[in-house]
Amino acid sequence: GKGAAMVTAVAYRLTDQARQIQETLAEFRLSKSQLLEVKKRMRVEIERGLKKESHKEATVKMLPTFVRSTPDGTENGDFLALDLGGTNFRVLLVKIRSGKRRTVEMHNKIYAIPIEVMQGTGEELFDHIVHCISDFLDYMGMKSARLPLGFTFSFPCHQTSLDAGILVTWTKGFKATDCEGEDVVELLREAIKRKEEFELDVVAIVNDTVGTMMTCAYEEPTCEVGLIAGTGSNACYMEEMRNIEIVDGTEGRMCVNMEWGAFGDNGCLDDIRTKYDQAVDENSLNEGKQRYEKMCSGMYLGEIVRQILIDLTKRGFLFRGQISETLKTRGIFETKFLSQIESDRLALLQVRAILQQLGLDSTCDDSIIVKEVCGTVSHRAAQICGAGMAAVVDKIRENRGLDHLDITVGVDGTLYKLHPHFSRIFHQTVKELAPKCEVNFLLSEDGSGKGAALITAVGCRQRELDAQ
Ligand code: BGC
Ligand code: MG
Repeated sequence: GKGAAMVTAVAYRLTDQARQIQETLAEFRLSKSQLLEVKKRMRVEIERGLKKESHKEATVKMLPTFVRSTPDGTENGDFLALDLGGTNFRVLLVKIRSGKRRTVEMHNKIYAIPIEVMQGTGEELFDHIVHCISDFLDYMGMKSARLPLGFTFSFPCHQTSLDAGILVTWTKGFKATDCEGEDVVELLREAIKRKEEFELDVVAIVNDTVGTMMTCAYEEPTCEVGLIAGTGSNACYMEEMRNIEIVDGTEGRMCVNMEWGAFGDNGCLDDIRTKYDQAVDENSLNEGKQRYEKMCSGMYLGEIVRQILIDLTKRGFLFRGQISETLKTRGIFETKFLSQIESDRLALLQVRAILQQLGLDSTCDDSIIVKEVCGTVSHRAAQICGAGMAAVVDKIRENRGLDHLDITVGVDGTLYKLHPHFSRIFHQTVKELAPKCEVNFLLSEDGSGKGAALITAVGCRQRELDAQ
């Protein structure tokens, strides 16, 4: 009768809805051959960045860091470190002791950088940084020490020496004026002078990937790669000098800051980017830039999720078809929420409670869909990040003419550390896509602080040698 027909209609609508949701998510599910293609394209862009004639136009910049070796345990002294560009801004005091019982002692303080300062003038930003250093030195009682400082500055910089770095472009949430094209070490030195309260010796500017690699290499000499899977995404590794065409010299190795976040900015990933990735890009502070990063780092995963949820809601599949103010708010799904939502130990009721906390009223069905959306987006992120890493380790293997490479990758970043599945899927992908490499992953313990101090120590030692 009529009732049965209605039931059939409802059931049909539900299965049709489920089918449409699956079709939407299918765009995020990459096959092995697509991932191998990502790996291959990364390799092409790596070569472009390294070669003199293509370096200028290259999207993956392959920036020289002037770090020529990993630590050897003889590093010694007291150092100040700054960590700018990750989840938190921090000032640190790092005491490194060499000898039989090597020790590293660290003190640090986290400071907030208000959004108005991140996106104000360069002068305001650097004055704020120096204000925080001043507070820290007071707190530690070390204002008169003129300590050597390592500046972990987690943005792309063109380096011509260990202590000079011209900011190529801001990334992530930063957009302070008058900094791009400038040497940020000079900007810091000028701000210290303006303050007239203390002196510091800025010895090194360090990318967070490099700090991470160095920290892990201090414990494990086979560590020659650094990875950040956090707010942003990037990697570095020890490349042969002969392959780094924009630096003179062919002997030995130098660490290269890949800046792989910009992979895809020339359109080479367009076939796997979805309309949601495009929407995230259009909504960002740096449209058209850091396209790979926008597919695989913590700052953007939640944004991709949000774009999908908005679309599914518009199509009437979620939240009773009502787009709330919350859902329209940029940045609501931080890494920590995604990590909670995807936790296997969480019952659906708890997923609903988290959504409720965010201001999203969900039904039980809604929460199932939201969880699946989150899982799909983070799965793709881990896989394409793994495809990038597979390209790197295979490149190192080929550099050394080996059929088999054993190597350690030092890793840091909130996404890698907090997310319940990211690291596992990432490891699995690297293994599948680079079968000739045995890759060992080592979690870095505060790479941005310890690593910067180690690099500063090496820089000080080098300076003494040069002066002799
Ligand atoms: C920056 C890199 C940095 C990465 C991780 C990216 O946005 O361009 O320099 O290493 O984030 O913090
Ligand atoms: Mg960091």
